[in-house]
Amino acid sequence: MNRLALLITLSYATVSHAQILGFTPASAGREVEIENKFKSIPDADEERRQHRVFTEEPHTAGSKRNNELAEYISSEWKKQGLEDVVIHRYDVYGTNPKSASLEMIAPTHYQALLRETPLTGDDDSKNPAISGAWLGMSISGEVTAPVIYAHSGNPEDYDLLRKHGISVKGKIVLVRYSNPYSYRGFKALTAQREGAAAMLVYSDPQEDGYKKGKVVPEGPWGPEYHIQRGAITYDFMVPGDPQTPGWASVPGAKRIPIEEAVSAPNIMALSLSWHDAKPLLENMDGPVAPKDWQGGLPFEYHLGGKRVKAHLKIEMDNGLQPYYVVEGRIRGSEFPDEWVVMGNHRDAWVFGGVDPSSGTASMMELTRALGELKRQGVRPRRTLVICSWDGEEIGLTGSTEWGEQFAQDLRQKAVAYINVDEATSGPSFHGQAVASLAPMLEETTRSLRDPSGKTLYDAWKAVVEREREEGNQSSQFSSSGVLNDALADTRIGSGSDHTVFLNFIGVPVLGLGFEGDYGVYHSAYDDFYWMNHFGDPGYKYHTLMTQLWGVTALRLADADLLPFDFATYASNIRQFVTELAGGKKSVILNGARSNDRTESKDPASSLDLREVQKAIDNFETAGKKLNEGVVHKLSDGPLDPELAATLNHSMMQVERNWLNPDGIPGRSWFKHILYGARYTYAHLELPGLTEAVEKQDWREAEKQAAILKRSLENNTQLLNDLNRQLQP
Ligand SMILES: [Zn+2]
Repeated sequence: MNRLALLITLSYATVSHAQILGFTPASAGREVEIENKFKSIPDADEERRQHRVFTEEPHTAGSKRNNELAEYISSEWKKQGLEDVVIHRYDVYGTNPKSASLEMIAPTHYQALLRETPLTGDDDSKNPAISGAWLGMSISGEVTAPVIYAHSGNPEDYDLLRKHGISVKGKIVLVRYSNPYSYRGFKALTAQREGAAAMLVYSDPQEDGYKKGKVVPEGPWGPEYHIQRGAITYDFMVPGDPQTPGWASVPGAKRIPIEEAVSAPNIMALSLSWHDAKPLLENMDGPVAPKDWQGGLPFEYHLGGKRVKAHLKIEMDNGLQPYYVVEGRIRGSEFPDEWVVMGNHRDAWVFGGVDPSSGTASMMELTRALGELKRQGVRPRRTLVICSWDGEEIGLTGSTEWGEQFAQDLRQKAVAYINVDEATSGPSFHGQAVASLAPMLEETTRSLRDPSGKTLYDAWKAVVEREREEGNQSSQFSSSGVLNDALADTRIGSGSDHTVFLNFIGVPVLGLGFEGDYGVYHSAYDDFYWMNHFGDPGYKYHTLMTQLWGVTALRLADADLLPFDFATYASNIRQFVTELAGGKKSVILNGARSNDRTESKDPASSLDLREVQKAIDNFETAGKKLNEGVVHKLSDGPLDPELAATLNHSMMQVERNWLNPDGIPGRSWFKHILYGARYTYAHLELPGLTEAVEKQDWREAEKQAAILKRSLENNTQLLNDLNRQLQP
């Protein structure tokens, strides 16, 4: 056999034996051809070119530049061949800085710079349009007061201050960003509840600066003057426009007064570089701060109290302004009313080198490649919907308003949502998925090649193994699956645009990103220079992201039977329940435990989850049976279209069934009973149930357990119906 013949045979063999979750052998063969065509289109130079367009100027939500970029995306998408391109306008409660000043007035005078200094070699850092220090949704005001160091600004930190007899009432608290990590909005709410007059939040070099490694321009970590901007919206209560909780801010929509909006902060807040925090910290008196409150600056940190006084003045321009969401599609050839939705936010704190413009560049190459496929006559079977969100940084606003506006359509039509926020800050892949899509995502990564030469799957596995060895302490988010050999992170909190899809509408979500050493988050140094020197100099990971994003979407769009794995979902839920019980005597998990409790089932002092466990077992059995039935059906060849439609529509319903219309207690916008987020943004599994158990509110816990059991039973019944229809 000559070499050419061998090659032809080999590639024929790959095609004819291709196996993809959800595809018959014939359509898997066709899919591999489509994917190979698709994967050959994304180009690193184009990724870089697009990245430059988006990182050329600062583009915060609501700014002229960000709105021009919406127009740019819209016109590019039309040229690329996308269909139904439209710009949606939402009139939302936005936030802009007018002015801010901070001066230490005792024991010595220091005028805070509140600006980032230019870097040699990085001309963008000299751009006069770069904002000073500010935090979105701070209120305006002026105060002169003593400054207290409150560590991370979490409730336990104030408890410790109280133990030392230090009250923060009417004072300025100085907190740091992440020790341990918590969302700055939660720090602001905590400071507000403690009665502080204002909150200053700074980046300690221990967390993202010189204690981590070389700082820009020599390395990827944050330099002395870098400022982490960000919003402090209480979007863990309800995301989106604070004045339209639960409905869309289309022009003219009903609005509640800002005073009644639970997600609108009522405290002055400002972010600082460590350069500006240092004079405050090193002059503080009072008790020496505990060991874990010490930081990377070369002196002992004190709690403060009397000696350091500061004068803070913040003027904000908060109020109604338009945000713009760009939407485009490629209509499906066979099932135009089944949607695979994708999105990335456009707004940045400054240039948004990583966050979000690496994702935006990958998205622009994705749409170009999809348009090119269409030109070659290849249309996905289901519709691809793609969105450029606005105001993600202010409170997940654009995606939330769009999701609220089209909730009805999405409930009927959405197969899944694939989010890419920060596409690339380094080489380590991190993939997130609701548990039913975790196997599909893992399978997809086997068909892609990492720049290292390995499959993306093997590269991902190496990342997960390394992080498991290092233990979970390093990251604020978990990085791997809950089951032993699983790679996909199935613990999904909030903090990006997937939130409305998962928690409000019940659409299965996936999140994709490459990560690395990154100390310039939300600062002016997160720019084109940083990406070209540290993040992804050859734009190889941007290109790989485009390929991965597209192949994942195409598989969901082209599958004969949607590739959901509900047995995996069941085992994840079992793990969540086990962790919730976590040895708590008051939570009864199995028969063995109940013996030593002598059946004293006083509902007011304990929670019996044995019925829930049984419901999980039944759901798992039904899921396994469905997996087997589907594999069998697919291997038999072409499917009866009517049966396929029934199966697909029912499978789409499973995620919707995890929603409780009443929402989780105290936060009715968040309706998913398996996935939620803490106020810190950290993932929170079984949110309603877990919070009730933590409060030892056993009546509420029992109610939440009953809701969980009922959802499990509904979904088991749904799967069993499908299993009956799959019987030969
Ligand atoms: Zn982002």
